[in-house]
Amino acid sequence: MRRMAATLPEAPRELALTRDEPLARHTYMRIGGPAAYFGTPTDVDALRRIVTWARRARLPLRVIGGGSNVLVSDEGVTAVVLSLRAACGAIRFDGPLVTAGAAVMLPRLAHAAAEQALGGLEFAIGIPGAVGGALQTNAGIGDGRAIGPLVRTVDVLRLVGDVLTRVTLPANEITWGYRETSLRGSGDLVLGATLELSPRPRAEIEAEMRRLLDARQASQPTATPNAGSTFCNPPGDYAGRVIEAAGCTGLAVGAARISELHANFVVHDGSARAADVAALMAEVQTRVRVASGVTLVPEIEWWGDGPPPAAFAVAG
Ligand SMILES: Cc1cc2nc3c(=O)[nH]c(=O)nc-3n(C[C@H](O)[C@H](O)[C@H](O)COP(=O)(O)OP(=O)(O)OC[C@H]3O[C@@H](n4cnc5c(N)ncnc54)[C@H](O)[C@@H]3O)c2cc1C
Repeated sequence: MRRMAATLPEAPRELALTRDEPLARHTYMRIGGPAAYFGTPTDVDALRRIVTWARRARLPLRVIGGGSNVLVSDEGVTAVVLSLRAACGAIRFDGPLVTAGAAVMLPRLAHAAAEQALGGLEFAIGIPGAVGGALQTNAGIGDGRAIGPLVRTVDVLRLVGDVLTRVTLPANEITWGYRETSLRGSGDLVLGATLELSPRPRAEIEAEMRRLLDARQASQPTATPNAGSTFCNPPGDYAGRVIEAAGCTGLAVGAARISELHANFVVHDGSARAADVAALMAEVQTRVRVASGVTLVPEIEWWGDGPPPAAFAVAG
């Protein structure tokens, strides 16, 4: 339940938090109601001050990266939502190692690595997320390449006892699965990561990135707002295939529609509501369950107050 605006505390001015920022401005879907508080801390100390205040005020805290894997409720969230683009936006190379801030977008990082003739991140060229978001889901592509195997360390801000502490986690202290990692839901705020890349001629890297982008453009609705793959692939199969087989291509609720180009993508013309998308997802889950017995688990994450809509109540 949304707390009434009148019962929400006034944030100290020095935290520079804005009120009721429409999250539609920050999501790839272009959908989402207001964040009760929104901030873009300028550095890690400013981030600490906001986190400390939010804890005292008993307000949940959420970080938004590229906003490419979230569906935000039309009613918004009673939370402090933070963008780390000012505090954690740097890229630094040291031989084959690259240290990237949590807010660095993957395509930018892949291009920067190509300029250094370092390969390994070619797969990331078409993923519109930031490093911090990618580390929550072990972002990757269909041939098995993902960010996890490149990671050497992850820098996080963690609550240890009552103290916010900067911790450097070696990759082997993190579990990496298919579209999940132990960082997700851990409460740690990712500040950045160090990845190990491999020398490769720049021309080869760029040619491969072009191929990957062309393939994406041919098979995904890149021109319309969407949130990428809506559901995780079921074991041994593809979500798009089972959705298509269940006759859901083109199925619509309100302005939200199953893409004709790729059935695992929900698209819209800019006017859909989160409620439309969630209802469409639930309808697809039902039709797929009836047609093939498969339970589709959302890959995208729900942001809202109170219990999630039915589509998101399915356990992963
Ligand atoms: C067109 C399109 C294509 C896509 N293709 C792919 C693909 O090929 N492969 C793939 O894996 N995914 C793909 N995705 C999904 C998405 O891009 C990835 O999951 C991406 O890694 C999410 O990153 P983000 O920064 O956008 O995360 P967000 O959507 O901003 O956030 C996702 C979650 O991560 C949390 N988070 C973000 N930053 C931090 C941080 N610094 N610290 C702690 N928590 C944080 C958020 O709070 C939220 O819980 C696609 C999406 C779209 C729209």
